Amino acid sequence: MIFLIATQNSHKKTEFQRILAPLGVEIRTAGELGLTYPDVEETGTTFEENALLKARAGCLLSGVPTVADDSGLCVDALDGAPGLYSARWSSDTEGENGDDEENNDKLLRLLKGVPDEERTAHYVAAVAAVFPDGREFVVRGECYGRIAHERHGSGGFGYDPLFLVSTAGTESNEQAASGDFTKTFGEVDPAVKDAQSHRARALNKMYDLLKEEL
Ligand code: IMP
Repeated sequence: MIFLIATQNSHKKTEFQRILAPLGVEIRTAGELGLTYPDVEETGTTFEENALLKARAGCLLSGVPTVADDSGLCVDALDGAPGLYSARWSSDTEGENGDDEENNDKLLRLLKGVPDEERTAHYVAAVAAVFPDGREFVVRGECYGRIAHERHGSGGFGYDPLFLVSTAGTESNEQAASGDFTKTFGEVDPAVKDAQSHRARALNKMYDLLKEEL
C-alpha cells in the first residue's frame, strides 16, 4: 500500500520506510507521486498537533494515506526550549528555519555555566498517520540525555553533536542519570542512534498501531 510522507527530508523517508516496510507499506514523497507538497504552517501548540497538520494536508492533497512527523529538543534548564521551535530557534525571519550551527551556538550560550547534572534534555518526535476515510492516529517517542559543553562528532544532524547519551539508556531522565555520558549522537554509530532515537520509538509505536488497522 502506497503512503505519502509529508516531508522533504530524505533521511526521514528512509527511516519511515525501513520501519514500516514489513507491513507492506511503500513510502513515497510528494515529488515521487508527481505532486508539489504545500508548505504547511506549523501552528499547533504540541508536536502531535503539528504532525497531524502535516499529515492531514498531505492526505488532502494526495488522496492516499499519509504519514508525517514533528520533532524537537526540550532542555530542562530552559523550561523545555527550544521545543516546538527547534528548527527555527536561531532564525530572525518568521517561518524560516535557522542554521544548525547557529542553533547549537545559541544552546551553548544559554547553558553557559550550567552544571552537568542540570543539563538534562530530551528529544521528542510525534508521528501521525491520516487516512482518506478520516481515520487519524498520532503517537510520541522520547529520548533522554544531556547537553554537552562543546560539540563532539560530525554524525547525525541538528543538535546531535551536543546531545550526550547515557551508557545506561535513554528511556527517562532517571534511567539516563544512572549511567555515564561519554558520547553524543554525533559520535555514535548511526545504528545506535536509530535503535534508541525518539523518531524510532514513535515509529515503532506507529508500526504496532498500523498492524492492527491495515
Ligand atoms: P522538524 O523537521 O520540524 O521535525 O524539525 C525538527 C528540528 O528539531 C530539527 O531541525 C532539529 O533542529 C531538531 N531535531 C529533531 N530531531 C533531531 C535529531 O534526531 N537530531 C538532532 N536534531 C533533531
